[in-house]
Amino acid sequence: MANQKRALVTGGAGFIGSHLSERLLGEGYRVVCVDNLITGSFENVAHLMSSPNFEYVEHDVTEYMDVPGPLDEVYHFASPASPKDFEKIPIQILKVGALGTHNALGLAKAKGARLIIASTSEVYGDPLVHPQHEGYLGNVNPIGLRGVYDEAKRYAEAITMAYHRYHGVDTRIVRIFNTYGPRIRPDDGRMIPNFISQALSGIPLTIYGDGSQTRSVQYVDDLVEGVLRLMQSAETRPVNIGNPVEYTVKEVAEAVLRLCGSDSPLVHEPLPTDDPKQRRPDITRAREVLGWEPKVGAEEGLKTTIDWFAQGAAKAKAGR
Ligand code: NAD
Ligand code: UDP
Repeated sequence: MANQKRALVTGGAGFIGSHLSERLLGEGYRVVCVDNLITGSFENVAHLMSSPNFEYVEHDVTEYMDVPGPLDEVYHFASPASPKDFEKIPIQILKVGALGTHNALGLAKAKGARLIIASTSEVYGDPLVHPQHEGYLGNVNPIGLRGVYDEAKRYAEAITMAYHRYHGVDTRIVRIFNTYGPRIRPDDGRMIPNFISQALSGIPLTIYGDGSQTRSVQYVDDLVEGVLRLMQSAETRPVNIGNPVEYTVKEVAEAVLRLCGSDSPLVHEPLPTDDPKQRRPDITRAREVLGWEPKVGAEEGLKTTIDWFAQGAAKAKAGR
């Protein structure tokens, strides 16, 4: 096809990366997916392998990355993202945010490609400003357990802006707020996969702390739409993409119980260190610049996700 664009998705075999790869293929792109499977799974992209437009390369992006042929766009999404991993694989997280982003930028520069990095609401730390707008500089503890992720992403933003200013690389920064949907790892340790797995197995839902801390959860399709719009826009400043409807963690647990038809009890466990007390995106910039806002409500998104978890559990039971 003439003028067919070619995109690289790092972390393409992860939860978000696989949805992004699928959507790009649907938009007519050729897609190269690079992943070392540290937290992702080949199963997430197995269904894309029959497409002549999809290539899968197993590679650690902290090592020199060679992608033969032209590239128009780079989506740098490789990075573990679950707070459980912050303690288990801290050095890999720091390396992928620093060296991985450096390699992705070097590649984009060599190919003349536009690059977007997956940043995060964690750059705001345990925020003292609420809701969080992109001008807020954050409240991060650099030496805490979450610091490995927060600072890796802050560094990733810094080196991205340096490549933009110094080398003229055409860059975009998306600050992603809590995202969920099918293909999120059931044992990944994050709130929604934990609650759904627990509710479907009839075991207690683990509420860390008293459950009054808040999060704003967005469905993955809304995020992917925002990422694509940002990539095609002229906006080089960071843009929050998240659903501004805010819930307490306890409310999320209760919604999951109701939608799963489960009577699992709630149990309280200690609150992890530096766990942000409140989080809600100010999406004024995304609305104004991208004409974007989320379309999928929590009830609908959670139902679709619960169905996916239930299918996986049924397959596992049948030994498939
Ligand atoms: P995920 O763990 O499912 O996906 C990350 C993918 O990156 C995995 O497939 C993993 O194997 C791969 N990866 C990690 N290190 C790598 C390396 N060195 N080389 C090659 N591949 C590597 O997590 P996700 O939730 O899909 O997150 C994707 C991106 O979005 C991450 O950059 C994350 O920080 C960002 N993000 C996610 C959320 C969220 O709520 N899901 C929120 C904010 C930001
Ligand atoms: N959480 C919880 N029980 C769990 C997992 C998470 O109460 O089993 C809480 C966690 O302490 C945090 C919120 O849910 O306040 C969201 O956690 P998640 O791991 O999804 O990501 P975070 O937003 O902290 O990066």
